[in-house]
Amino acid sequence: MGINYLDYADVNMDEIDAVVVGSGFAGSVVARELAERGNKRVLVIEKKNHIGGNMYDEIDEAGILVHRYGPHIFHTNDKRAFDYLQRFTDWRDYQHEVLANWYGTFMPVPFNKNSMEIAFGEEEAARLTEKLIETFGDERKVTITELRAQDDPDLEKVADFVYENVFLYYTQKQWGLTPDEVDPSVVARVPVFLSRDNRYFQDAYQGMPLEGYTPLFERMLDHENISVCLNTEAESVFDLQFSSDDEDAPLSAIALKDQSFTGPIIYTGPLDELFLARFGRLPYRTLDFVYETYDQEFWQPCGTVNYTVTEPYTRITEFKYLTGQEAPNTTIMKEFSHPYEDPSTQIPYYAIINDENNAHYDRYLALTKSLDNFYPLGRLAEYRYYNMDVIIGRALALADELVG
Ligand SMILES: Cc1cc2nc3c(=O)[nH]c(=O)nc-3n(C[C@H](O)[C@H](O)[C@H](O)COP(=O)(O)OP(=O)(O)OC[C@H]3O[C@@H](n4cnc5c(N)ncnc54)[C@H](O)[C@@H]3O)c2cc1C
Repeated sequence: MGINYLDYADVNMDEIDAVVVGSGFAGSVVARELAERGNKRVLVIEKKNHIGGNMYDEIDEAGILVHRYGPHIFHTNDKRAFDYLQRFTDWRDYQHEVLANWYGTFMPVPFNKNSMEIAFGEEEAARLTEKLIETFGDERKVTITELRAQDDPDLEKVADFVYENVFLYYTQKQWGLTPDEVDPSVVARVPVFLSRDNRYFQDAYQGMPLEGYTPLFERMLDHENISVCLNTEAESVFDLQFSSDDEDAPLSAIALKDQSFTGPIIYTGPLDELFLARFGRLPYRTLDFVYETYDQEFWQPCGTVNYTVTEPYTRITEFKYLTGQEAPNTTIMKEFSHPYEDPSTQIPYYAIINDENNAHYDRYLALTKSLDNFYPLGRLAEYRYYNMDVIIGRALALADELVG
């Protein structure tokens, strides 16, 4: 059948039971579930000119399948999320590997027993590894924070090496902060892995959608009860009504096309945008992606290479490793991280999580609490970093709640 794309001008709100803002995994999964299980007529409003949110991929001018909003690798221990996607895609078996480019030498990331040998030489690595295993146990992931907390010169040597050569410059580039200013949950994402397993993820289910993400989303949103309006911003079609003129007065209703909408509204965009940034913009990091195509089969030794001590970009991804595409040429993508300053040209990618920003977010969230048909969901609306599988799990849970 294909997706039912509509112009917003042609939507009849009397025929809509639920409104979903955004067509990433948060929005698309809820839309599908409400349409299919709940038999609700769902209107999806998407500001971009395509569906799929951050996961959108397409063939570039050189014929290579590329991800347009950062490389996305699916990995999860949540069987429900994995099985759910299986309805809309077959999988390509793919185990992601990341190497650090350390002054021209490649070493596995997360830093593991193999990296230790490259960094310290075989003999010294064996001695240090033994000590690490004695302290933490074999096959364990130890965070940088845990390592630095040890009062042992050998362990400190490993901690210092990893901190300075794998973590520090990369983190500074990524966040524009010193590592001390970064939220501990982000630091905790950088482990030392006491293993020879070079895979970036150890989850039970890992892979890439066989034909790419966009066809997966096309199937998910292809349902007779779903209509999709592209190029439509929520803030331009929502008429927000407040309980008073006070700037902290909560919402009393949201109207669309001059009618108060009483069905569920699932909102997956940034909350500050919805309220036209009345309390100021929520801080995010954005990314610039620079693509380069080469007339050679492969350009680098694995899917992603992190530049941990040199170069202004954080990492380079070569998509053919991820997608398994066979071609005589290849496209790579460099990622440059910046503060998010201009919503008209930039995309908010990473929420900068700290107490001040969380309080800022909570002020926006408080405006919505009074409206019992409004559900903020997803990495933007919840101002959190969530992997895809977590978002799918949260979207399914919300659908369970709404459908009963
Ligand atoms: C660079 C990068 C790499 C990542 N890599 C991975 C990975 O390898 N594996 C993994 O599991 N996760 C990864 N993630 C996380 C993944 O992107 C998120 O889990 C996923 O995008 C969450 O889906 P979502 O629907 O919440 O948000 P999104 O995918 O961002 O979807 C939100 C949608 O809402 C639309 N929208 C926003 N505001 C409005 C508005 N006002 N009106 C209308 N529409 C609006 C947006 O255009 C967008 O389409 C990565 C994230 C980033 C930033």
